[in-house]
Amino acid sequence: MELNRRRQKDVHHETWHVYYGDVHVGTIGVRAGVPSSAPQWGWNCGFYPGMEPGQQQHGIAASFEDARADFETAWRRMLPTLTEAAFDEWRDAVASRAEIRKIHERGEKLPSEIPSSMMRCPCGVVFDSHNPEESLPHRAHIYAIQAKGGIIR
Ligand SMILES: [Zn+2]
Repeated sequence: MELNRRRQKDVHHETWHVYYGDVHVGTIGVRAGVPSSAPQWGWNCGFYPGMEPGQQQHGIAASFEDARADFETAWRRMLPTLTEAAFDEWRDAVASRAEIRKIHERGEKLPSEIPSSMMRCPCGVVFDSHNPEESLPHRAHIYAIQAKGGIIR
């Protein structure tokens, strides 16, 4: 499988995302805010999640062509060390981010974003405080503790 590059739109500095199949494995771009005497191009090779941050490589180069050549050298060394599971980890993360975006676009909340109505009664039972039938028997337990100056967590 070959690497391919996609130019990013709407970015101030020329930036290319490098893909290996469907996986975004790195970036080549003009470095922001460096003196004109310094190498103008930078690259980073590797992806996350799937790879450890220390496995990733990066460098600088005088031209796009040099940056591309250095990137490809780094990638050829890196590729044999990568398992299909690493790529799948990246794909899974992208898929779940897309799923979260869709849920938010529908104006819905994720289960983790909905405040929990579950409470633990001093008697040890966990119940739904929004459900009157479930919470009623425990009110007496909670009031009894509060009357004694206790704290309900
Ligand atoms: Zn109770």
